[in-house]
Parts: sequence; C-alpha cells; structure tokens
Amino acid sequence: MRLASFIADRTARSGLVVGDEVIDLPALDPRIPADLSLVLAGGDAMRERIRAVAANAAGPRWLIEAVTLQAPVRPSKFFAVGLNYADHVAEGARERPEELVVFAKAVSCVTGPFDPVERPIVSEQLDYEGELGVVIGTRCRNVSRSDAPSVVGGYLALNDVSVRDWQRKTPQWTLGKSFDTHGPIGPWIVTPDEIADPHALDLRTFVNGELRQRSNTRQLLFDIWEQIKILSTVCTLEPGDLIATGTPAGVGGAMSPPRWLVPGDVVRVEIDGIGAIENHIVQAAPQRGSGTKHVTMSSGCEGP
Ligand code: ZN
Repeated sequence: MRLASFIADRTARSGLVVGDEVIDLPALDPRIPADLSLVLAGGDAMRERIRAVAANAAGPRWLIEAVTLQAPVRPSKFFAVGLNYADHVAEGARERPEELVVFAKAVSCVTGPFDPVERPIVSEQLDYEGELGVVIGTRCRNVSRSDAPSVVGGYLALNDVSVRDWQRKTPQWTLGKSFDTHGPIGPWIVTPDEIADPHALDLRTFVNGELRQRSNTRQLLFDIWEQIKILSTVCTLEPGDLIATGTPAGVGGAMSPPRWLVPGDVVRVEIDGIGAIENHIVQAAPQRGSGTKHVTMSSGCEGP
C-alpha cells in the first residue's frame, strides 16, 4: 500500500493512495492515526485495519492534485550512507570503502516531496543526490541481516541535498548535509509488500528535465539489510526513522566544471515502483534565523 501524509482543508491527515486519489484514513476510522510513524508502529494489525476500511469504498477521498503532500514522516533519526555506489565512488576519485560510511542529516532538514529547496546564503555549491530511502516500521535493536526485512515499514524517494564546500571543509559531513529544506522525502511510503525486491529498483534524477543520475539499487555496495544491521547495533531504531541508502554517479559537483543548482532549477528524483519527488530551488532569505520570530508572528496575523 501507499501511505501519504497530506493537508486538505487546512488539516493534516494520513491517507491511502489509490490511483489518482487519496483516501482519508482517520476520517474513515478514528483509530487510524494521522501520523504515519504511528501507523507504521501499528504493524500488521494496523495494515489490516487500513485494508478493511479502504475496501469500504464510500469513504472520504481527495484527488491527489487537490491536496498538499507532506513529508510522510518526521523521523527521530535520519541516517545517510555515503560512497555506496561504485560509480559514485569513482567519480569522486575516492577509495571504495571497506566499512559502511554513515553520516547524520539533522532531522530538521526534512521537507515535503514538492516543497522548495533553499540555496543557502553562505554557499553556491548546492548539489543533489537522488536516493532510495528506507523507513523503519518496527522499534528494533541488534537486528540480524535475516531479520532486517521485517523491520522495514516502507520505501520512498529522497534527495540528500548537499552543500559541497560545507560538507568538505571538515572530516565530518554533517553540516553540509543538514541545511534547512535539504531533505525532501516522499511522495509517500510504499510498504514492502508492493516492492518485490528493494535491491532491483531503477532510480533516476533529473535537473530541469535533463537526466543526471541513472542507476539501480542492485548497485549498492552495502545493501539495505547490512545498513539496518549496523545501525541497529548502535542504537534503537524507531518507527519513522529514515535511512538514505546512497547515491549513484552523476552529481553536479563531480562534473567538469561543476554544475551547481541555482534558483529556478527543478530537481526530480524518481524510483520505479515508488514514485517521484520534485523540488524547486529557491534562494534562502537572508533574514531567516535572525528574524524567524518576527516572520512567524506576521505571517500568522490576519490583520491588515
Ligand atoms: Zn547521499
């Protein structure tokens, strides 16, 4: 099934995507949460409940194009794997890693599948990384490779947006991977029963319609089960936690000369069997941060 988080009539809802429509699940059954992390945490029983209410086709539904799709989850942890496609390792003139290369993206970078992505005021080296995202569905620790498939709640497309000079000026990549809006995910969560093999998915990234990245998840150096095994060795994974599984060759920073993203560009990441996210690049406003409180107050005011 395809589980979406969306806003309609100014209300955040969870929904089941069927064709070009999304069924409003909490409206059909108030026991189904509006937060998809909680839906995933409900496991098989919750999925059965969703199937049962969705079969009752008379429920409230919306055309997808008439709603605002949001980030399907707000994770408590957002891990990402670096240097995990051989061709991407080669284009960066790096060594193929012997150990899983993991970094964290601040969870505050998560944004919706069609929301704008900001070019920071401090850098012009804005780049894309189309990736398969794994959403954890079950609270888990010390998961073996063989048990790893059972803790996956679903899959989505994501863009591990990167600010290359900030990524590379220290050994830790975290700052260059964590700018606000630099984690668009979606367009929804596709549950594992719809994905015959997550290691056989074609992935493409386009910039303004030009194909920049084309690969298949069978090229992953460390597969998803190994990623879950290693990450769950360190910490408890929670429903809604995210893993960005790595990006293939074709990033803008590896081109000669580099082709950085600029305001007005449109980046599309699409994965067969899942769907596509598409984000417009905008220039970050200089008052962000120093003027957040003022902006929030004025935008929330209905006055003249
Ligand atoms: Zn990445």
